[in-house]
Amino acid sequence: MGKNDNDKLCIMIIPRTAKVRRLTIPTWLPKAIVIAIASIILIVALIINSIYSSYAELREMYTAKTTEIDELKKENEDKNTQINELKAQTDKLYEKSVEIDNKLAEIDKLQRQLEKMAGIQNSSRSEGIVKSLKLQPVNSLDGLQVLMDTLDYKEKELQNFIAEMEERLEYLETVPDLWPTTGRLTSKFGTRQDPFTRGTSYHEGIDIANSVGTNIVAAAKGKVTFAGYKSGYGRTIIINHGNGYTTLYGHLSKLLVSAGDRVEKGQVIGKMGSTGRSTGPHLHFEVHKDGKLLNPLNILK
Ligand SMILES: [Zn+2]
Repeated sequence: MGKNDNDKLCIMIIPRTAKVRRLTIPTWLPKAIVIAIASIILIVALIINSIYSSYAELREMYTAKTTEIDELKKENEDKNTQINELKAQTDKLYEKSVEIDNKLAEIDKLQRQLEKMAGIQNSSRSEGIVKSLKLQPVNSLDGLQVLMDTLDYKEKELQNFIAEMEERLEYLETVPDLWPTTGRLTSKFGTRQDPFTRGTSYHEGIDIANSVGTNIVAAAKGKVTFAGYKSGYGRTIIINHGNGYTTLYGHLSKLLVSAGDRVEKGQVIGKMGSTGRSTGPHLHFEVHKDGKLLNPLNILK
């Protein structure tokens, strides 16, 4: 080899059939090729590494997002469950409000009937305060507030009503409207022909005739103010009922109470007789109100 050939490499290619070929390359080429391949491998390795780390990061992010989405889904489900529960509660509340509303209407009706029966006219309650809630479904807090207010109002109203009823019943107990005995009405109240003088006279009560010993009862509750003999009336009982009412029971055969006794409405106080200025067994019954005579037939029920 010559000096010029020192930095050259000679490759002989010897095929089996054709003639031998000679290829001449510089000596640094294989080194350069090796370096180049090594560099490429390094670069590729770096790229792969970078891709892999990016992928790992991405994967982590994906996992995190998936977890987050799952949590959100679960939260959403919980919310839906809560909403459904709330809706069920609201429906129930509405049903209850309709029920309460119906009950209020029933109470109102009953109250009016009782007031009518007891003769209460100037009731303390205002008409039409209890409004129907039927057209106003209680599915909001406002609706619920209206219902609560109505119930509060109704409660107060019913308390007033009960107090008024008690007062009224107390009063009715003092009104002498119970027939004091049984029998035949033989003489009415007012001007009549006197059975003794045959002239006209004023009959201050009514006469009820029956057999001697028939029960005489108090026409209302009260306090006996007189139980004894009274000229003309014979054995007589007078009861003060309060509220200005007094009653008188005359011609009795027997007195079963004494002055000062408290009697209940319907309590037996004596027996029918014919004592005093009387033509036969009967009860002479008088009703006084504030010192004035009343026609008993206008009061007795
Ligand atoms: Zn009489």
